[in-house]
This record gives sequence, C-alpha cells and structure tokens, in this order.
Amino acid sequence: MDIVTADFSRFGARELITAARLLELYAEKGADFLGDQVSVSFNVYSGYVFLTDEDYNVGLLDSAKEQIVQFFSCPECGYEGTQEEALEEGKDFYKHEGFCSFECWQKNQ
Ligand SMILES: [Zn+2]
Repeated sequence: MDIVTADFSRFGARELITAARLLELYAEKGADFLGDQVSVSFNVYSGYVFLTDEDYNVGLLDSAKEQIVQFFSCPECGYEGTQEEALEEGKDFYKHEGFCSFECWQKNQ
C-alpha cells in the first residue's frame, strides 16, 4: 500500500476534516506557491494531510492563521519546515531559492 495516498477511504475522520478545510481555504484564498495538478494527499506514516502539485510543492493547513502555508524540504541537507519555522532557526527558504541557508544554496551553484 502507498505511504502517500489520495484515497479518501483511507483517511480517518480527523484527516477528512483537515482535507475539507484545506480545500475550503484553497477555494477562498488560493495558494500562490501551488501550480498545476493540485490534489489532496495523506501520508499514512506521518499523519500529515496536505495539498501537493505536479512540482511536489507542499501546502499545509495553518489553522491558527486560517491559511495554507508552504512546507519546505531543503534539497541539500534535508531540513524541513515552514518559512516561519525556518526563520526561528536562522534559516530562510525564500531567500535561498528553496534551500534552507546560504551554505546549502552555495553547494548547489
Ligand atoms: Zn539545507
């Protein structure tokens, strides 16, 4: 069985509610960072429900802020988190084209 699924019969009640909220926010506000072929996915191991597109961009529900936030994964070191979490740790995905830091960005030039 797939670890990441879009099969709603495999979602639990909590995951379905998260999926519904993500779709609602996507309808109301959209998400700039998501392109084409957007779908809802559920990672059965991590429990994360998220939106994803054809370029593997990932959008998570931020229920406190009532918005969809981009979840990054640094291609160099594997550090994962939102931009806000990254900034708290002195990293910055926006500034380094999706890499978490200048060091990681530089290694790929
Ligand atoms: Zn990194």
